[in-house]
Parts: sequence; structure tokens; C-alpha cells
Amino acid sequence: MQIPRHLLPHDGRFGSGPAKIRPEALTHFVKHADLLGTSHRKPPVKQLVSRIRGSLSELYQLPDDYEVVLGNGGASLVWDMATCCLIENRCHFGVFGEFSRKFANAVSRADQLSTEIAEAAAGKIALPPAGEADSYAWAHNETSTGTIAPVERNYPGLILVDGTSAAGGTLLDVTTTDLYYFAPQKNFSSDGGLWLAFASPAAIDQAEQIAKTQRWIPDMLNFLLALDNSRKNQTLNTPAISTLLLLEAQLNWLDQLGGLSAAAERCAKSSGLLYHWAQHSDYATPFVADPAHRSPVVATIDLSESVDAGKLISILRDNGIVDVDPYRSLGRNQLRIGCYAAVDPDDVAALICCIDYVVERM
Ligand SMILES: *Cc1c(COP(=O)(O)O)cnc(C)c1O
Repeated sequence: MQIPRHLLPHDGRFGSGPAKIRPEALTHFVKHADLLGTSHRKPPVKQLVSRIRGSLSELYQLPDDYEVVLGNGGASLVWDMATCCLIENRCHFGVFGEFSRKFANAVSRADQLSTEIAEAAAGKIALPPAGEADSYAWAHNETSTGTIAPVERNYPGLILVDGTSAAGGTLLDVTTTDLYYFAPQKNFSSDGGLWLAFASPAAIDQAEQIAKTQRWIPDMLNFLLALDNSRKNQTLNTPAISTLLLLEAQLNWLDQLGGLSAAAERCAKSSGLLYHWAQHSDYATPFVADPAHRSPVVATIDLSESVDAGKLISILRDNGIVDVDPYRSLGRNQLRIGCYAAVDPDDVAALICCIDYVVERM
């Protein structure tokens, strides 16, 4: 089935991660291509890292005593790093999807640590149970289900928040967290492989206390080594310079757009179009029942049984509209649409027209 050209979005990338990279970011990349293949310990790349750390501090109006830390390995590495370096004895988790579950699982496997987990069914949210622990962890935005959770400092220990798909597209008061970490292949419209984090003095202090104990910590998972390198605008080992350049391009663009609030507005506009459409459609409904928990950056839309989501997704793909599949293990008759900052709300409007066009003819 061919969708008429005039209905198609200009850019058909709606993945929830890796996600659309703005074509303009590639212009920035090409302009600075002479950095590729040069040492990350020499001024040009260190200045690039410094600019990224500075732009992130500005984007989030980071308090003076918070630090931007980065390293290789993506957001997943942070789970193992926190297991080794940040959680002293006990961590409580809110689990409400695959990403928040992965962190809880990683810590549960560490013999020296204990956990307590509050879990919610897919489409709902769960915050960590109250009670004594030294760390509390949950995801700001659960990318697997399209739910957003509040980020508040309601606990006595470190607050470790996975901001991977929320960062750069939703508002946040960083002071409510001790480690707010993310990877750049979502709202930051870059490639994967890198992790970044905002670390509070309390997080650094707890890591320093743990480092004094006999605990074995591999270098790649050593938070204090990463911090030490970050302060010098380096990474422990070789980073992908292309990822850094694309990230810088997006940070510059977000700044021009009007910063975090403008980015958040743009994402909310895109996802709002989808939720509004689904509420009024006779074959689609927002998957997340509570509007307050519907993600502004990853919209999940359930389809009625009369519409085969798999077939719809494959027809869309044939027409250049890609990656609107639901999360693998969720197993629902669903569309999941990345509404990140790089995605044009007009393209989301066009996507909705294309979905209606195909479903009417399926
Ligand atoms: C994508 C994602 C991750 C995994 O990121 P990687 O960089 O691939 O490790 C973790 N958490 C959340 C919430 C995500 O959306």
C-alpha cells in the first residue's frame, strides 16, 4: 500500500531510541570533522567535552556544587557503576517497565547489597518504597511503556534517577536528585555509547566513603575515576568523537530553541497531538490511563483488535515511517512513538494522517 506523498512526514524517524538525528547536526559534524581521528587528550577534543559540560550545566541551570560527569558505555553502564560505587548497603527501587527493572536486577545480583522493590504493572508508575536505605532509584521516563514519574526528594538517601529518555525533553529541578543520568541517543539526538550524569556533592561523598572500604571496583565502573577524568574534560578511555559532536550540535540547537522549557513544550505538543487523536479515534486509545503519567516524550497508543499493529507498522515502514513498534517484551497491539525534541510536531501531525489513511484501507 502506498501512502500519497503529500501526506507523508518530512522525516519518518519516530524511534524511541536510537532516535532521529537532525540533518542539521550532520552539518555541524562535517564542519568539525577534522577532530575525528585526533587525540581525545589534546585541547581540541577536550574543549569539545568542556563545551558539552558547560552547555548541559546551562540547560539545567546546574547548582555550582553539582558536576557533569561522563564516560563510555551508555546508560546501562551507570547501573553497574552505581552498584559498585554509589550504593552503600541498600537501595529501594520503583520498577514500572523494562529499564527501571534492569537497574533493580543489577543491584539484586550484588551479594553485598540488599534491595526492596515496589513494582507497578505496565502503564502505571511505581516509586521506591519508603523506609531506610542509603539510595533510592527509579526512572524519570520509562521508555518501554511511555510513562513519566515525578522526581522529588522525598527520601533520606541518595536519589538516583534514570533520565535517559526524559533528559533534554522534560523539565527537571536537578536539586531533587543526586545522580541524574542519561545517554545521548534520545532527546539529545546523537549516537549511543556514552553516559552523562549530573552528580551532587552527596553522591560524590558517598562514592568516596565506599572507595575507602575493601570493595573491588573495576576501572570501567569506577565513578570516581570517571569524575576525575570528567573534571579534566576527558573520558577514562577513548570516546566516539562523532557522538560528542552530534551531542554538541543538539545542545546548540536546544539553546537557540529557547532552552529546556522550549524543548519540553515542543515534545508535549507532539505527544499531545497523539494523545488527543487517540482519545477521539474509534480504534486507538492512549495506553497509559492516567493522563498525569502519560509521557510527553514517548507516546504509547493501543490499537483495538480490529487493527493489526504489526501489519500497520510494516506498511508504514514500507513508506519510510520507521520504528513505531511497541517495546519488544510488552507484547501489546500498540504503537510507540518517540516525540523527542528533534521531532517536528508537524511531522507527528502528518504521521497521524498516515496512520488513519492506512487503517481505513487495511
Ligand atoms: C534507552 C534507555 C536506556 C538504555 O540506554 P543505553 O545507552 O542503551 O544503555 C536506559 N534507560 C532508559 C530509561 C532508556 O530509555
